[in-house]
Parts: sequence; structure tokens; C-alpha cells
Amino acid sequence: MIIAVDIGGTKLAASLVHNQQILESRRISTPKSGASGDLSHALEQLITPFLRQGKQVVVASTGIINQGRLTAVNPDNLGGLNDFPLQSVIEGISGLPVKLLNDAQAAAWGEFYQLESTCQNMAFITVSTGVGAGLVINSSLQTGSSGLAGHAGHTTIDIQGPVCGCGRTGCVEAIASGTAIGTLASERYGISMDAKAVFERFHQGEQDARFIIHRSASAIAQLISNLKALLDIEVAVLGGSVGLADGYLDLVQYYITQQPALFQVDTRLAQLGHDAGITGAALWASQ
Ligand SMILES: [Zn+2]
Repeated sequence: MIIAVDIGGTKLAASLVHNQQILESRRISTPKSGASGDLSHALEQLITPFLRQGKQVVVASTGIINQGRLTAVNPDNLGGLNDFPLQSVIEGISGLPVKLLNDAQAAAWGEFYQLESTCQNMAFITVSTGVGAGLVINSSLQTGSSGLAGHAGHTTIDIQGPVCGCGRTGCVEAIASGTAIGTLASERYGISMDAKAVFERFHQGEQDARFIIHRSASAIAQLISNLKALLDIEVAVLGGSVGLADGYLDLVQYYITQQPALFQVDTRLAQLGHDAGITGAALWASQ
């Protein structure tokens, strides 16, 4: 029995997983304070009820996992938390063996299994608050020497573009993410808007909303073709609240078809939804 934990910018979830089946889940809000003590306390609350059944813990977390510590590429996405001793905190709470993984990497592994060996090289891209990705190359999940592998949202596609929360200029995340969609819409409309509100206006055919959503989808299409050029991926899987939004995949696919044939990639929707991180992490831990 595996206790799989998902640490996101807005929620924390834990599930009891047996033979790839989620038996029971608990979910709480991520503390907004950015104080490490608050995150430790929240994780303890979440995990403790499962400790009698669990034999090991695996954590899928937003941010970079490097030598047992959690750091943020973009600290805004983790409530300001920028360095957290995740491995030792979870070991202290659970007394069990603990494995850590980035959440997009975990989701990539879960989605790779859904493809049932039809390909060996794939990218999972989540477009949500930020833009994350995970890479499977030669059927092996890439985590990198310092945990950074797959952070494709922080590759740049517009050197004249907006400054990203990571410090670079013109990142895919700064153009395509739900946060970027909301920021640009708020500027254009003069009122505070989130990505969900922009999609509503997009579906009503509003010109500004249409421009903003197309800009996001076009950036993700560029990213997918870049990954094709770099890694010769066979399949791209799109997830996240923006990635799964009605009509978004069609736009991404349209912009991919505008690329030369060599750089086009079979792009599909994620199958595991909100449980992708939990399921993928449990799969990875059980191997
Ligand atoms: Zn960036």
C-alpha cells in the first residue's frame, strides 16, 4: 500500500494507492503564508490518517526536487515558499521510506502508461497556473541531474516577450499559462479576470479573449514542435485546467499543422485528469 501525496500551488492531496487503484483520498488547501512550518503542519494533518496502512510514501510536488529539498522555479506558484526540506519532513511525519518527484514528471509517467507501449518518446505538458512538463525518453522518465528535466515552460519562445516569474524573458509560461492569460486579459479589459472568465468570453466570440487564447495555444504549439526538434517525441499529451479547457486542444493542433511536417506531433488530451500526479507517482514508486 502506497501513500501518494500531491503538493500543488492551491491544494494538497494524499491518497492510499494499491495496485494502481486509488482507494481513498484526502484534500486540503495549500497554506497561503509561504511559511515552512505551516506546510509541515498541513502535510502532517493530511498524511497521518493513512499511516497505519501505508508501507511507503511518494510525493509529487510542484517545483524542483533536488537532493530531498523542494525549491521553486517561480516562487509565486508556491505562495512564496522557496526552499523546503521535503524529504526529511515527510520522513519525520511518517517514519516510512519516502520518494520524491516533480508533479509534472509524475503525471508524465502516469500518462505514459495510458499510452500502453504505443510509443517510447513522449512529452506531457500541463497548462494551468504555470506551464509544466515531463519527458519520457526511450520509455524512461527523465528527472535530470538536479531535478530540472522537463521544465519546458521556462524555455523561451519570444525574446521580446514578458518577463517570467523565473527571471527569464519570454518563457512559454509567461505567455501561455492561466496566470498569463488572466494578466493580459486584465490589462486589455481593465478589470481583474482569471483564465476561466477569459475562456467564457472566448466562447462568446469576443475579439480580445480570442486573441489571448490563440496566443496561448500558439505558444504551446511552438513548444511541442521545439520538443520534436530536440527529442523527436512521438506523442504530446496535454493536461491542466487550460490544456483540458473546451476547444483548446483544437487550437494547439491547428497551430501545429502550421509548422513544417517534420516538426508536427500527434497531440492528445491527458486521460488521468486531476489524479495524474498521484497515479503516476504511485506507479513510479512501485517499480
Ligand atoms: Zn520562466
